[in-house]
Amino acid sequence: MSEQTNHFKVAIIGSGPAGLTAAIYTARANLNPVVFEGLQPGGQLTITTEVENFPGFEHGIQGPELMDIMRKQAHRFGAQSIYKDITEVDFSKRPFKLKSYDEEYYADAVIISTGASARLLGLESEAKYMGYGVSACATCDGFFFKGLKVIVVGGGDTAMEEANFLTKFASEVIIVHRRDEFRASKIMLDRAKKNPKIKFVTNKVIKEVLGVEEGGKKRMTGVLLEDTKDHSVTQLDADGLFIAIGHKPNTELFKNYLEMDETGYLIVKPGSTYTNVEGVFAAGDVADKKYRQAITAAGTGCMAALDAERWLEAQE
Ligand code: FAD
Repeated sequence: MSEQTNHFKVAIIGSGPAGLTAAIYTARANLNPVVFEGLQPGGQLTITTEVENFPGFEHGIQGPELMDIMRKQAHRFGAQSIYKDITEVDFSKRPFKLKSYDEEYYADAVIISTGASARLLGLESEAKYMGYGVSACATCDGFFFKGLKVIVVGGGDTAMEEANFLTKFASEVIIVHRRDEFRASKIMLDRAKKNPKIKFVTNKVIKEVLGVEEGGKKRMTGVLLEDTKDHSVTQLDADGLFIAIGHKPNTELFKNYLEMDETGYLIVKPGSTYTNVEGVFAAGDVADKKYRQAITAAGTGCMAALDAERWLEAQE
């Protein structure tokens, strides 16, 4: 392909709710956007099952189906998807340059919506039961665990916050942590310790997620814990497992150009999606460590599209 055909008015990096919403808006504004879908087309919601809090779906919707609909909606207005990862960018001059493993692309404006990946344990059994008892988001899935027993793994503020939140639904919350000291702030830890529904299991790591398959349906039933000192293995039965060991914003690629906070989240000008490079906008979890929801990602995706459209107009 020539440079000519690889030159887009708007390039969107990432195809989660933020990227695909930005694609719907920029496509409807006749900006013929391209969406680089990356290694996880459809983003994080493709690894979950029921989504009950995205407005417009009275009875909920499966995550992968929701993302499929969003993509089709964007394509209907002329957005195109390229199923590649962007491996390098050059934001030092315009048009901006984006590179995949085999090609170079140019864009007048770029919307970054590469998300923030939940850090996971990396177990095969964790992946098997993801969405079937295993979750990386208490706000999203806590509701499904009314009256049930759940485990939260982690020792930082997020783990304490998620554990406290889950006590609104669960009958019992067990925090499993690999050490007996916690990274969490004193105030968050004290709050969790005072909560009668929360128990702590320390010096243990999760070795395996256990589960059953009944009538074609699978669900997790517990975990195997390994003691970090004597390596003994015990079983802990539970209906849910929330992984709360942090998130990693996918921003490595932009570190030479864009301002980030100390944990790598992109910094946008307050009330907008403008980054420090004119013509480069950021939307969704990549610039949001606070809310991290599909609807907030979609909302800022819309904002980024409108910001990009107005910015491009002002360049003409
Ligand atoms: P993401 O969805 O993370 O998408 C990022 C995209 O960027 C992906 O398409 C990826 O392929 C792409 N990408 C990354 N790097 C590159 C690159 N270099 N080049 C090209 N593409 C790249 N939220 C809710 O509101 N309700 C729920 O019920 C809910 N359930 C959840 C369940 C689970 C298990 C998880 C993990 C999250 C859940 N969330 C839920 C949170 C929600 O999924 C996120 O807040 C939302 O997906 C963030 O959207 P995003 O568009 O910012 O990024």
